Amino acid sequence: MGKGFFQVPTAINEPVKSYAPGTPERAAVTAQYDAYFNGNVDVPMYIGSEEVKTGNTNTMSPPHDHKHIVGTYHLAEKKHVTQAIETALEARKKWAQLTWEQRAAIFLKAAELIAGPYRAKINAATMIAQSKTVHQAEIDAACELIDFLRFNVEFMSQIYEEQPDSAEGIWNRVEYRPLEGFVYAITPFNFTAIAANLPASAAMMGNTVVWKPSDSQIFSAKVIVDIFKEAGVPDGVINVVYGDPVMITDTVLESPDFAGVHFTGSTYVFKELWKKIGNNIHTYKTYPKIVGETGGKDFIVAHPSANPKQVATGISRGAFEFQGQKCSAASRVYLPKSIADEVLDYVKEDIASFKMGSPADLGNFITAVIHEGSFDKLAKYIDQAKADEDAEVVAGGNYDKSKGYFIDPTVIVTKDPKYTTMETELFGPVVTVYVYEDADWSETLKLVDETSEYALTGAVFSGDRYAIDEATKALENCAGNFYINDKPTGAVVGQQPFGGARASGTNDKAGSAQNLLRWVSPRLIKETFVTPIDYRYPFLG
Ligand code: NAD
Repeated sequence: MGKGFFQVPTAINEPVKSYAPGTPERAAVTAQYDAYFNGNVDVPMYIGSEEVKTGNTNTMSPPHDHKHIVGTYHLAEKKHVTQAIETALEARKKWAQLTWEQRAAIFLKAAELIAGPYRAKINAATMIAQSKTVHQAEIDAACELIDFLRFNVEFMSQIYEEQPDSAEGIWNRVEYRPLEGFVYAITPFNFTAIAANLPASAAMMGNTVVWKPSDSQIFSAKVIVDIFKEAGVPDGVINVVYGDPVMITDTVLESPDFAGVHFTGSTYVFKELWKKIGNNIHTYKTYPKIVGETGGKDFIVAHPSANPKQVATGISRGAFEFQGQKCSAASRVYLPKSIADEVLDYVKEDIASFKMGSPADLGNFITAVIHEGSFDKLAKYIDQAKADEDAEVVAGGNYDKSKGYFIDPTVIVTKDPKYTTMETELFGPVVTVYVYEDADWSETLKLVDETSEYALTGAVFSGDRYAIDEATKALENCAGNFYINDKPTGAVVGQQPFGGARASGTNDKAGSAQNLLRWVSPRLIKETFVTPIDYRYPFLG
């Protein structure tokens, strides 16, 4: 604490801009897209004050135009990872001692930079790197990231305010120290906001960080680095390395000063990470904090009383926006027989009206999936469904990777509630529907609960309050974010803290005080004012 109990600005959600024809934001993002698309950026690693170029590079291409190159990035060798760790530990000496309001000011400034001069840049970079439509880029890279930064500053100040009572003659105080060591942030491709938030939330609480972004997000990660630099994040506080995830991770996890990992990505990778940390546990100076938000097999279950048009819209938006590549995207749906045909007809109508192509054409609702590996996997599952007797592709089913990784929004209807695409996370624009007998509502809820290892998001649609109550109770453990009469995507920071349990993660709720608490190690200080000078208690006579 400095010389005052400072009150931070009240956090408010950043309003989403429309990008409608004729708006200034549309002109700005289009111009920036063209500039980035026709440019050729060379992205270094950032270790302390150094911009490290190893000369060993990979190229970056938009998923919707994979032969077109927009730049290169440099790959780390083991020595660079070691250098990043040492630099983080050195920077910690000053950063951990900086008063909290200075850290708050840096990240509030970053939020304002994104809201203003960097908005078109971070959105255009996200449209190119991750093939997001301008709306998807706006709600992720601009608004969600701004919200993470503003709300986390508010949560940080609330955490610091949280103090114990003090009995007469003593004063109890709690200091929320950063972790002793450094934090490792590993981030996924699909949200620019998550990529920035994982290192930033730990840094905000006074930690220094080694950050490894996804290979598929480096183009927009560079804009994040530019923003953090301009906002005044000191050199060495967030060190950025790219390249072989296994080599980088193994090097990080060898360090005795490894104090925590902030991970978002797939379940298998996180479990392997946890195992490695366990194997190295005798190496570490402190028990590392392990925070991971991972995969999902998110559901929509409709009761016979549900409004078919509402259910269909929940599916069309919940399953297909950003090509189903949101961890929260609906990918298994349970429909009662009485309304199933009507719901499916509406979904087919929606799909027929979707335009697919490059995000540079703002009329497109569907763009490309992230890379060839994802494309090939999705194509394989679609072909399998076409061949399997207990599955039928009722919409979409085509794919084409000649220019970009385009997969038609696809609906599979299966007779087997445990069919492979009802259980496996595909992470693409493919949704599988199981139609149940209306009378089997309660059994179906059990099925929803027991079908997948995940527990991230889920939605119930119903006009019957008793059915809603039954579903809320029956599905208590299979979704960390549970929606009633709404699609299971679109969590807003400060309103719906996000995260799942079971194989979906440690449920530390990104964008909440709960998450920030993982990046501190509280120290209790008890001070006694009149210190006893006789060991004898009164009961001793
Ligand atoms: P991914 O697991 O392939 O990659 C995530 C990060 O881990 C990347 O930086 C990658 O390079 C790194 N990585 C890959 N293999 C590794 C290894 N062996 N050791 C260490 N690091 C490794 O995930 P992705 O494709 O980038 O993202 C999609 C996944 O993320 C999906 O499973 C999705 O559900 C999940 N996700 C979850 C949430 C959530 O909040 N629960 C949010 C976003 C994404």
